[in-house]
Amino acid sequence: MAIVERKLSGWGRYPVVQSRVQRPERLSALQELVARAGTGSLTARGAGRSYGDAALNSKGTTVLMGRLNRMLAFDEKTGLLRCEAGVTLEEILAVFVPRGWFLPVTPGTKHVTVGGAIAFDVHGKNHHCDGAFSSFVSGLKLLTASGEIVACTRSRNANLFRATVGGAGLTGFITEAAVTLRRIETSRIHLRRFKAQDLDDALSLFDEHEASYPYSVAWIDCLARGKALGRSLVMFGRHARRGELDARLRDDPLGYAPGTRFSVPFNLPGFALHPLAVKSFNAFYYARQRTREMTAITDLDPFFYPLDAIGQWNKLYGRRGFIQYQAVFPAATGRKALVEALNLTSRRGKGSFLAVLKRFGAASEGLLSFPLPGYTLALDVPVGRGLHVLIEGLNRIALAHGGRAYLAKDAYLTPDIFREMYPALPDFLEIKGAHDEGNIFSSMLARRLQLHHDPELKAAEVTVHA
Ligand SMILES: Cc1cc2nc3c(=O)[nH]c(=O)nc-3n(C[C@H](O)[C@H](O)[C@H](O)COP(=O)(O)OP(=O)(O)OC[C@H]3O[C@@H](n4cnc5c(N)ncnc54)[C@H](O)[C@@H]3O)c2cc1C
Repeated sequence: MAIVERKLSGWGRYPVVQSRVQRPERLSALQELVARAGTGSLTARGAGRSYGDAALNSKGTTVLMGRLNRMLAFDEKTGLLRCEAGVTLEEILAVFVPRGWFLPVTPGTKHVTVGGAIAFDVHGKNHHCDGAFSSFVSGLKLLTASGEIVACTRSRNANLFRATVGGAGLTGFITEAAVTLRRIETSRIHLRRFKAQDLDDALSLFDEHEASYPYSVAWIDCLARGKALGRSLVMFGRHARRGELDARLRDDPLGYAPGTRFSVPFNLPGFALHPLAVKSFNAFYYARQRTREMTAITDLDPFFYPLDAIGQWNKLYGRRGFIQYQAVFPAATGRKALVEALNLTSRRGKGSFLAVLKRFGAASEGLLSFPLPGYTLALDVPVGRGLHVLIEGLNRIALAHGGRAYLAKDAYLTPDIFREMYPALPDFLEIKGAHDEGNIFSSMLARRLQLHHDPELKAAEVTVHA
């Protein structure tokens, strides 16, 4: 297998590092990599859509999983798909939407692999009613440090299953997964969109409509201040039924032919990101919807993946890159936490094109899974002066309210804050230690956050909850 040296980054293009890269074509080649790892370290990389340093390894080998992407079996009765972990959500959609199936949970881009979706236990716009991706994963196969391929389910090797979903690729290489898809009658979404004048308005819209729509999201103008704080477009959606389509679409209710419209060819100059430019963009976007409410039948892609229509949109943030800060604030004090976070962001003038608010339902069983019941807010912020201070402030707010930041987007958390945010960390490390004593599976994120098994850790400090 060829070994190449390459510059790599996450989607936020920060940090950028030089890494040794290998791309196994077969499972046997992946096994060989593990067998020969010795004291070196390996990092799985799916589609590289995590924003920070989770899929980077400047001190070892980054292993591209994209060639291990065969679909293995599909049960038309139950919707159970068995596939290799390098299959992308885009590939699943292309094959299964025309047959009347959709992803049970999807993040805001379809350019992620099944392995990456499990490793961060990703969430979608339906978390409040359906939970995270792992809720629909009935089993997975994991190539562990011993070279063994271990089948994990909720009843077999259950601890390893709980450490692997949301485990940032640090328990082993996920080679295969069984995921249950969702039946759909059409490839269209019934969309209902509201203009909310402030945060309270947006939150009451969530309360009022979430029972009727499985999908919900608010796009917040995070530079709006004072009375307009939390001004947003709140969107709800459900899969349209055939009878709701107009005659032209009814003939081909499952038609699906999405595409990228255009690509950003170069890095945008810094001035384009000036707070005033962002402010006018936000005002323009909000002002374009003239009425309080609109409904429409729309295609799947513009609803679920609006940004995928612009290839390489990450270049919009210029050469220095950006981070996406995402935190979840528990329900009890969620509104207060959101007000504090939005106030801080608007005061610091670092607001982004995108501030996305979603509601989370119950937490999943992944020990390091991100979601907690409450609200989650995600902001894109260009790398530059003041970024550290803003992130520190946002982390402080999250911690004060019992919340946490999302590792899939992170490049800045420190080990002490991380430990406070993720109380099941000792359980995770215990399981990692049992299967990867030498920390073969590592990454820059793992080193930064000390997400390594530490043999010095006393057994008494660790409890694995049943
Ligand atoms: C535009 C955009 C929108 C997004 N929206 C959302 C959203 O709504 N919700 C959400 O939850 N996330 C969202 N994300 C984040 C994204 O879904 C996650 O970061 C996801 O993990 C990326 O998958 P990937 O295949 O690109 O994995 P990578 O980024 O390559 O890797 C992510 C992690 O998975 C591990 N990994 C990858 N493959 C394997 C494998 N086979 N075995 C073991 N470990 C593996 C890596 O080591 C790394 O730790 C978004 C990202 C973008 C760019």
